[in-house]
Amino acid sequence: MINIAIDGPAGAGKSTVAKAAAKELGYIYVDTGALYRTVALSAQRKGILGDTDKIINMLSDIEVELKYINGVQAVFLDGEDVSSLIRTPEISMGASAVSAIPKVREFLLDLQRDIAKKNNVIMDGRDIATVVLPNADVKIFLFASPECRAKRRYDELIEKGESVMYEDVLADVNQRDYQDSHREIAPLKPSEESVLLDTSELNLEESIQAVINIVKENI
Ligand code: C5P
Repeated sequence: MINIAIDGPAGAGKSTVAKAAAKELGYIYVDTGALYRTVALSAQRKGILGDTDKIINMLSDIEVELKYINGVQAVFLDGEDVSSLIRTPEISMGASAVSAIPKVREFLLDLQRDIAKKNNVIMDGRDIATVVLPNADVKIFLFASPECRAKRRYDELIEKGESVMYEDVLADVNQRDYQDSHREIAPLKPSEESVLLDTSELNLEESIQAVINIVKENI
């Protein structure tokens, strides 16, 4: 199986780019952030976001699954499709918080590895090249400036009809960057073999093409 790891900070366009590149290459696109978001949603529903011990206890009572319907990923929490419920700013922040808990990362590890064992995948996350798939065939670290990422996320949220301020989105991006890169376990950083791709000056089409070129040059 061919495994492509794409890591990078929030809002760099990873998911859109990886999804489009996967489609063109005929691989499955795996969005691992959805898994952390689902754990955060479960904790939020139980009113225990912020309580590490209770979150760890919760893990033995919940079931998180990824399913692919016509190649499109859906994430299930205890049998319920929560794919759209996990896309809120509160859950973004909650996911960043729960993802710093080692037991949460351990809980989600086999699920990610199993999919990569059975399928050609482009897997998108923070620690795919460094932890989840250290033997991935191609490793890409995709990033862009914080301002550029905040602008993209802001445009996305406005498009969805949410009322947000650019400054708040930028503050969220900076806070999540800080949390994601300063945590002790699996901090966000390129692996030694990662190809660095800065998309600040690239449009969507150029970013997708850049990823496809890197993949083709390296497999
Ligand atoms: O990629 P997305 O924004 O959906 O990820 C939500 C949060 O989940 C990130 O801020 C990050 O803290 C965490 N995450 C992670 N490891 C991954 C994917 C996401 O820690 N492989």
